[in-house]
Parts: sequence; structure tokens; C-alpha cells
Amino acid sequence: MKSLLDIRNISIHFKGDHEKVNVVHDISLQVNPGEIVGIVGESGCGKSVTSMSILRLLGRNAEVKGEIFFDGRNLLEISEKEMRKLRGNGISMIFQEPMTSLNPLHTIGKQIGEPLLRHRNMSKSDRKSRVLKLLNEVGIPRAEEIYEEFPHQLSGGMRQRVMIAVALACDPALIIADEPTTALDVTIQAQILELMKNISRQHQTSILFITHDLGVVAEMCDRVIVMYAGQIVEHADVAALFRKPKHPYTVGLLNSIPDMAADKERLVPIKGHVPSLRNMPSGCRFFERCDHAMDICRQEPRMFADGTHECRCWLHADEEGRP
Ligand code: SF4
Repeated sequence: MKSLLDIRNISIHFKGDHEKVNVVHDISLQVNPGEIVGIVGESGCGKSVTSMSILRLLGRNAEVKGEIFFDGRNLLEISEKEMRKLRGNGISMIFQEPMTSLNPLHTIGKQIGEPLLRHRNMSKSDRKSRVLKLLNEVGIPRAEEIYEEFPHQLSGGMRQRVMIAVALACDPALIIADEPTTALDVTIQAQILELMKNISRQHQTSILFITHDLGVVAEMCDRVIVMYAGQIVEHADVAALFRKPKHPYTVGLLNSIPDMAADKERLVPIKGHVPSLRNMPSGCRFFERCDHAMDICRQEPRMFADGTHECRCWLHADEEGRP
């Protein structure tokens, strides 16, 4: 299957006055049509920076090297005018906190209708009927009334539904969702995840889902990419990853999820800290925190692949090529 999004060997640096800091190192990933792919990792691992580089939303001090193909075009080479046509049209983004994305001075109707005006040049009445349909689709009751209301009149969950409606307005092929449920309480979070999953199924919309929460990945995604300290360390189908995590960091992440069903608490935090971006070890970046570290781990591991996983760890070097 031809990938909708094909990120090849992306590295991202931020330039300061006296130094250049590498935050993402040699990332490659694909998202297929209709697929939900999760990127999971602790804060600062580079997952949000990677997702923002797709729509070129990083500041001027960011330097992105590599290739990002969307629907066959390298997004790092298209003009700013073409990129503006793509944002909110071919690719939409949903952020964690809707209040920072919604304009407090504009009505909900105007904000959901804005991409329809910009990208489709729809008449006012066509926009209104499309917006009402979208409000219904994202499960907002009293659509006619909400159309005239302002963001502060809605709850956090409702505001996130509005953001999903804005993202869906032009029927994009890809939605990038950056921690879209982190600010919500657990019940609302489950409803929003269910809504996004249904939307993906019904419209065949691909979703790149950024999260720090493996529980959300299990709920939502078809495939998962685990990032650590600016690199991908493991990649697998969700079922394969949960059945048999391979990278010691992934194992640590899974062990640090509280297991409510288990007889006893099995929450085991990962020891130590993520290395500083300014002082990355030359070998495996997880070395200082890993219980399995060996001499060879002082050399940087590449990705080793077997039939189900790709894993950046010397423990799995001899598995490559096995079915
Ligand atoms: Fe641990 Fe070595 Fe694997 Fe790194 S390469 S995760 S240090 S076993």
C-alpha cells in the first residue's frame, strides 16, 4: 500500500546564539490511508516537534533535514503558499488545549466555518449547513444554539469536540492529534477517543496520534512508534507491542502503567533521567537507565527488524531476518 505520509530520515536542530541543539535524530515513519499511528514517549522526546515539522509549524530557528512526503509531494520543498493551502485542508491538526486554538472573540459557528471559507470559498448558507452537520457528527447537542455561542460557554470536552469539527471541516486525509485528550478527565477522554476512532473509520481519515500514554495507544492505534531522547527506539503493530515489547524502554513504559486489574500494584517507574539534549551519549541513549546494558551498547545501535518489530537495541541484533 502506498503511504499517505512518508517521513524519511528527518533530523531537527534548533539554532541558538552560540549552539545548535539536535532534538530529533534520523526519524522515518509512514502512515497509510485510514490508519491510526501513535507516537508515544515522555515529554521532550521529540514527538511533538516531529509532528509540527510536518506542517512546518516550528519557529524560524528550527532546521529540518530529510524528506516529508504527503500524497507524493515533499512538504519540505513546497512554497509557503502551497503549505497554507494544505493546512486545515489536506492535513488538519488538533492540539491538547482547545482554548489556545479557538479564538475567544469569535462564535463557534464562525470558527468551524472559517476553513470552509478559506479553502472551499463556500457561501454563508452552505457554510452554516455544513457546520451544523459537523456539530452533529462530533456529538454536540443543540447545534443551532451552540453555533452562536462562544468558546468560554462550553466545557473542556465540548471545546475539544469543536476542535475536532474544525479539523474535519474540509474532510482532510490526515489529522495530526497532539495529546488531544490529556487536559480532559478520564470519562470525557474515553468519549473523545471513541469519537476520533469512529471518524477515522467512517471517513477513512488517517490519524497521527501523539501521546505520552500507552493506555491511549492501546485504545486508539493500529501501529505504534516509541520515541526516546529524539530517536525511534521501537516500532510495531499495537497488538504485537503489547504482547511482546522488545526495547527495555518500552518494557519500562509498560511497567510504569498502574494495573488496576492485577492483585498487587505493579507500578515500577523507570530509574534515572532522560539524557540532556546538549549532552547525548554517543552509544545507546538509554544506556544509563538500562538494566541490560552491555559493553557493545556504548556503540550506537541501529534499528534491528524481525517479523513483527523494529527495535533499536543490541539485545535484538541477532533476531534480524527471523520470520
Ligand atoms: Fe539497553 Fe543496550 Fe539495548 Fe540500549 S542497546 S536498550 S543499553 S540493552
